[in-house]
Amino acid sequence: MAACSTCIFWDQLIGDVSHGRCRYNPPVPLPTQEYYPGPPPALKQQTPASFWTLTAQNDWCGQYQSSPPPSLMPAVSGVAPTQPAITVAAEVMLGLGLVTGFVITPIRTGRVAGIISGTLTSSTANAQINITGRHGTGTAPANGAPVTGQLWATTQHYVIKTSADVHGFTVIGGNPGLALNMPVWFDLSVASPAGGTTTLDDVQSLFFEL
Ligand code: SF4
Repeated sequence: MAACSTCIFWDQLIGDVSHGRCRYNPPVPLPTQEYYPGPPPALKQQTPASFWTLTAQNDWCGQYQSSPPPSLMPAVSGVAPTQPAITVAAEVMLGLGLVTGFVITPIRTGRVAGIISGTLTSSTANAQINITGRHGTGTAPANGAPVTGQLWATTQHYVIKTSADVHGFTVIGGNPGLALNMPVWFDLSVASPAGGTTTLDDVQSLFFEL
């Protein structure tokens, strides 16, 4: 149960087990002032006073934590090996969620921002390629698997004029409300309505909790 008595920040009073001091934030010292007697009044600074917040054992607040907070929040990055070329018209997954550096476990806020970038080619002239950021929990989908997962970025649209063209792509986004302590895979889905063989290469990632 979330209560001050089980919170890592609670410092139980000696001789009173039902009350303690909340150590979440150090108190800000308040300058005290005193006037000298007689005109004109002049200020005399005294030693600043500060007080830790006193709480009862069953109090609580939104900063409750049952274990010491980590000093650093997680950040992951990775470079995917050359992805198997996918022959696709309908949308399928690229399979990045199975690659190191494309899975992050939020531990503090659940706010995760991320970037995936790479290069893009198509065997079909004038092919439109749509690339979409998708993420989820549990077993990550493999390369070529049916589209799955929730959006973490809006769809990016590219047109490949010839099979010799190489385009760079960047997908930016994230999720501000992920569950804590739950690994989340981040992947891309790819669609090429004109068909042909689509290849994504030089794929790299950066994800971090903030
Ligand atoms: S639950 Fe909140 S008020 Fe209570 S000790 Fe923890 S941080 Fe302080």
